[in-house]
Amino acid sequence: MKFNKVLENIKTYEAGKPIELVVREFGIDAKDVVKLASNENPIGTSPAVEKAIINNASKAHLYPDDSMFELKAALASKYAVNEDNIIIGAGSDQVLEFISRAVLDENTSVLMSAVTFAMYEIYAKQMGAKIYRTASYAHKYDEFMEAYHMHKPKIIYLCTPNNPTGDATSKEEVLKIIHEVDKETLIVVDGAYMEYAAAKDSKYAMEPNDILDFPNVIYLGTFSKAYGLGGMRVGYGIADSEMIEQLYKMRPPFNISTLSLAAAIEACQDETFVKESIVLHQEQIQRYEAFANENGFTYIESYTNFITYLFSDDMDSTKIADALLKRGVIIRNLASYGMNAMRITVGTAKQNDIFFKHFLEALA
Ligand SMILES: *Cc1c(COP(=O)(O)O)cnc(C)c1O
Repeated sequence: MKFNKVLENIKTYEAGKPIELVVREFGIDAKDVVKLASNENPIGTSPAVEKAIINNASKAHLYPDDSMFELKAALASKYAVNEDNIIIGAGSDQVLEFISRAVLDENTSVLMSAVTFAMYEIYAKQMGAKIYRTASYAHKYDEFMEAYHMHKPKIIYLCTPNNPTGDATSKEEVLKIIHEVDKETLIVVDGAYMEYAAAKDSKYAMEPNDILDFPNVIYLGTFSKAYGLGGMRVGYGIADSEMIEQLYKMRPPFNISTLSLAAAIEACQDETFVKESIVLHQEQIQRYEAFANENGFTYIESYTNFITYLFSDDMDSTKIADALLKRGVIIRNLASYGMNAMRITVGTAKQNDIFFKHFLEALA
């Protein structure tokens, strides 16, 4: 049968390999598999949130509160915005999808950095839009402005901090871009890792309120990373209420499950867990920096919960990734992004010990 033509040049998103696959393929015991591939929170989920999920299990037969009143109230208070500035998605991924469907068609284009979150391209291609990229993976004002004036894209994606490279763009630089772009172009500020960047250096800290005066800009956040809720699928977009009203037309009913909603509401009350996660991360990432220096390769300074190692020609990221996988260590090879590099989610002390050991063995 014939499928939509736009599907012909879409490559299916390749998610981080699940633990079960390594167990099946290499016969490694599940408890010996270390997954540092999907930027999940290595210390897990907050105990208070786990309890909220269990306590809500008896409501599994009921549809969730479709107004998401409590969660929106919690986010509104956290960010000092109004409820009508907020839309909730099954992950911020779903909000990206709403945005794409709300403004793109085959006569439009989108602009993003050379190496950034893979889903921007996939959602845009689903709508038949054309993809433009700047030359650098870093979000550079001059490169974005040149491409913006040349192509007049319908969406500009600013991923800060950027995935899969880990670098961040300063608030000043992001606002400079926002100020120069006219209101017909929608700008997405994707802050999936903002908690980590804000804790590291306030120069990179952005909040929804920084962009709320611009009717064409949306800030995206997620519970999947610092909040440790990747499996619950909850993210959000915050923008001018008129944009939110339009995006709501794309939203299916009950797009967050009852348990996800309960988890996210509780997570908003437990900022201590996020702080602890960040402290652990800040200690452990230093070991990854030292490890790179000791072993003769480089890394991109990270503002996220992962670190990106860059290899020169004498090291092949694909070979190393395969060797690690056979040893039960799952990381993200960036060869498919055109980089001889790998992205490693910083784990717990124990997981990182295992990574360093296997990495050295894989090299040898
Ligand atoms: C993880 C991630 C998201 C969204 O994740 P969800 O789990 O769908 O909320 C969005 N943008 C970037 C850059 C990410 O890394």
